[in-house]
Amino acid sequence: MSSIEHNLQQVQQKISAACASCGRDPQTVTLLAVSKTKPVSAIETAADAGQIAFGENYVQEGVEKVQQLANRALIWHFIGPLQSNKSRLVAENFAWCHTIDRLRIASRLNEQRPAVLPPLNVLIQINISDESSKAGISLAELPALADAISQLPRLRLRGLMAIPAPQPDYASQLAVCQQMAAAFSALQQKYPQIDTLSLGMSDDMDAAIAAGSTMVRIGTAIFGARDYGSASVHHNH
Ligand SMILES: *Cc1c(COP(=O)(O)O)cnc(C)c1O
Repeated sequence: MSSIEHNLQQVQQKISAACASCGRDPQTVTLLAVSKTKPVSAIETAADAGQIAFGENYVQEGVEKVQQLANRALIWHFIGPLQSNKSRLVAENFAWCHTIDRLRIASRLNEQRPAVLPPLNVLIQINISDESSKAGISLAELPALADAISQLPRLRLRGLMAIPAPQPDYASQLAVCQQMAAAFSALQQKYPQIDTLSLGMSDDMDAAIAAGSTMVRIGTAIFGARDYGSASVHHNH
């Protein structure tokens, strides 16, 4: 068994254990394998082991992988910061975008989504705890942005995403994740098609699942540490 296959099994077991300890069905939590900076061969190994959903942060790098692996039935999620001048590449190549934080980007994606593809699944990114980060909107801004996005025919609003700031302990992680879960349920009341709360990484996965996350984003625990010094990966910050 490859280490990637082994790691995937371990992560799935952790998801199952986290679900068991809060009485949730593990089927309700999707594992998004974050493959940024990792080669196509690593993604193929994970796909051979049954992994379907992959997350990429850098547009150019992600698009190259999507195109190289076009013969496989994988589901590609864009999870990095998105600049307007790169939106077309995301609209044309990805199935999901997790980092919508302004109407301008949403409108561009809506216009640029090819008619031959199903609507682009989008998540609104909430800046839930990290005031120093510029990514994401406040919860106060959510109703207006959700309303505007829900009227764009080539986008499908599926829910919320957050990257909480690191917390000192489980109780604080849980408190932040519960704030997200409350916003998610409130949004679901208004938009019944909403079904995705993208929340939880390696360090806060248990708290995220206990709070109600439906999608955890895990990279290093599956693919190993990233080497940002490598010349073989491009990224576009
Ligand atoms: C890189 C990244 C992850 C995965 O991080 P790891 O520490 O490698 O598990 C998850 N979510 C987002 C938005 C990321 O950029």
